[in-house]
Amino acid sequence: MLPTDPLRPHTTEGPLLQVTDLQKSFGTTRVLSSIDLHIDSGQVVALVGPSGSGKTTVLRCLNGLETPDAGTVAFRGGPSVDFAAKVPKKDALALRDRSAMVFQTYNLFPHRTVLENIIEGPVQVQKRPRKEAVADAERLLARVGLAEKRDAYPFNLSGGQQQRVGIVRALALQPDLLLFDEPTSALDPELVGEVLTVIKELAEEKWTMVIVTHELAFAREVADEVVFMDGGVVVEHGHPDQVLRHPREERTRRFVQRLL
Ligand code: ADP
Repeated sequence: MLPTDPLRPHTTEGPLLQVTDLQKSFGTTRVLSSIDLHIDSGQVVALVGPSGSGKTTVLRCLNGLETPDAGTVAFRGGPSVDFAAKVPKKDALALRDRSAMVFQTYNLFPHRTVLENIIEGPVQVQKRPRKEAVADAERLLARVGLAEKRDAYPFNLSGGQQQRVGIVRALALQPDLLLFDEPTSALDPELVGEVLTVIKELAEEKWTMVIVTHELAFAREVADEVVFMDGGVVVEHGHPDQVLRHPREERTRRFVQRLL
C-alpha cells in the first residue's frame, strides 16, 4: 500500500469521531434522543435496528444533511461542533467535508455520465484540478471493475453497477469517514453480493465506515462493532457476536431473532 496514495484511507490510529448527546426532532416528533458514538480510525461500525429507529437520521446529521438540535460532533483534528450553540458556518462546512455518504438509491445524476457524476464533488465543491479528479476517478472505477463504464449514463448500468459508482463517488471526495445508508436494500438479490464485496474490500483497506444495514450476517462478518438502535436511542453496542448472538437487552433479542 502506498502511504501517499490520496485514494487510500488515512490510517492513523486512535479516535476519529466522537458524538455526544446528539438530539433531533422533526416538528414535535423526537427522532434522536441522546445518541453517543465513538469511532476509531479504521473501524467499521454497523448501525442496525427497526425501521424508523433513527439510523438514517444519525448518518444525515453526521454528513450535514440534517442539523441536530443539540449535541456535539468532533472529528480528530477538527472543531468540536456544539449544536446547542450557534454553529459558525465554517465549522459546519468543515464537519460536512469529513464524511461522504453512499445512498440507498444511489442518487446519481441521470443526465450525467459516470465520470461526470464522480468528479462533480471534487471539482465543483472541493475545487480540485479537473485533470487530477479525472485521473483519480478512473483509478477508482478500475478498482471496482467499472473502468469501461466511464462514459456510460446511469440508466445503462445495473443497480449493482450504479451503487458501485455511488461508492466511487464517495471515495473520490477523500473523506475520513464513509457513511452507507442501506447500500444494498434497493438491489435485486443477485446484485447484492457485488456491492457487499466492494464494501468488504474497503474494510480490509481500513476505511473507517458506518454502515446502516439490515444484512445482519454481513454486519457480523464485516463490522468491528454493532450499534443497535430503537426508538431514537442506542439500546446496546459492542462486538458483533455479543450484540447479534448474545444480546443483553430484550429489545435487541427480539430484533435479531426476526432477522438472523
Ligand atoms: P431509520 O433509518 O432507522 O429507518 P429514520 O432516521 O429514517 O429511521 O427515521 C426516524 C424517524 O424520523 C421516522 O419516524 C421518520 O418518519 C422520521 N423522519 C425522518 N426524516 C424526517 C423528516 N425529514 N421529516 C419528518 N420526519 C422525519
